[in-house]
Amino acid sequence: MTKIKFLDVGWTYTTLASSLDVAAKRVLESGWYILGAEVKAFEKEFATYTGANHCIGTGNGLDSLELALRAAGIGPGDDVLVPSNTYIATWLAVTRTGANIVPVEPIEATYNMNPANLEQAMTKNTKAIIPVHLYGQPADMDPIMAFAEANSLFVLTDAAQAHGSLYKGRMSGTLGHAAAFSFYPGKNLGAFGDGGAITATDETIAEKIRTIGNYGSSEKYVHDSLGFNSRLDEMQAAFLRIKLEILDDWNWRRRNIADIYLKGLKDTPLVLPVVEEWAQPVWHLFVVRCEGREGLITHLKESGIETGIHYPTPPHKQGAYRHMSHLSLPISEAIHREVVSLPIGPHMTAEQAEYVVNTIKEFY
Ligand SMILES: *Cc1c(COP(=O)(O)O)cnc(C)c1O
Repeated sequence: MTKIKFLDVGWTYTTLASSLDVAAKRVLESGWYILGAEVKAFEKEFATYTGANHCIGTGNGLDSLELALRAAGIGPGDDVLVPSNTYIATWLAVTRTGANIVPVEPIEATYNMNPANLEQAMTKNTKAIIPVHLYGQPADMDPIMAFAEANSLFVLTDAAQAHGSLYKGRMSGTLGHAAAFSFYPGKNLGAFGDGGAITATDETIAEKIRTIGNYGSSEKYVHDSLGFNSRLDEMQAAFLRIKLEILDDWNWRRRNIADIYLKGLKDTPLVLPVVEEWAQPVWHLFVVRCEGREGLITHLKESGIETGIHYPTPPHKQGAYRHMSHLSLPISEAIHREVVSLPIGPHMTAEQAEYVVNTIKEFY
């Protein structure tokens, strides 16, 4: 019997049902379902929350990444520096623009892009960098931005796992030239369907993003560029406005669970997440490492505890990137072999986190 779910989106609805139901009815009765008052209001509220100058709703996180890259003029012949260990969407967005992926190995302790590896990865065609704030902890942005400035590179952060996380007191979404967010239901700020957004500093880029995501049109039936359709819809925007109000509170619930894990597991053989002193992560995932993870996963499962693996296979070893499978990316490969994600989320209580700790200690 499952005692502790890895993710519980049903709990989210039950907890917020009274306000979600009112919002759904309001949207249905408005008779306006695409690019209306809810999307406009959410974009404004999310820009205010992050402190970004501009926010543009999109259809999902993958589209957010692609739209931002295309708006920055990234395309065939360009090289983009991308983490070797990330969810495959980061890679796919680059591939969809026609640009080439240049994988950059992470810092093993934090799983985030290692700024020290950028110089060596540079080519004469490099145009952009995509640092990912993996598992909810910001990447080390100051040296990345300094490197980008010195080489005139566009910096798009993949903030799909990092809504509300802070780097040196600055909110993710404002750390590069643009940031891509996903509102997939399982994310820290999750919708009840697909959704995404981009935050951007620069007005010209923001307008381009808006245009490309709306059929290349900024004026009805005038199409000056080849665009596609990727828009946040009114219903999801209305739901996200409710979720945004409680995002900080729910991120704190995650932090409380993470604190219990960090304290309770420190004398086990598990490699625990390392939090840099300048980072305030939002614990989208709580990822530990161990050799021979299958035994631990089975033990937890038999005790009613669900776990995850983020991710089991590095992008360059996926069939989709078989032409890159010869690359040697040993840090990424080791990470993918050894990681286990413990359950974490606003649905969990302190008692449940203690139970996870005790069950793990029982195993070792
Ligand atoms: C979820 C995620 C995405 C993609 O978001 P979708 O909304 O599912 O398209 C991109 N990058 C990272 C790091 C993610 O975790």
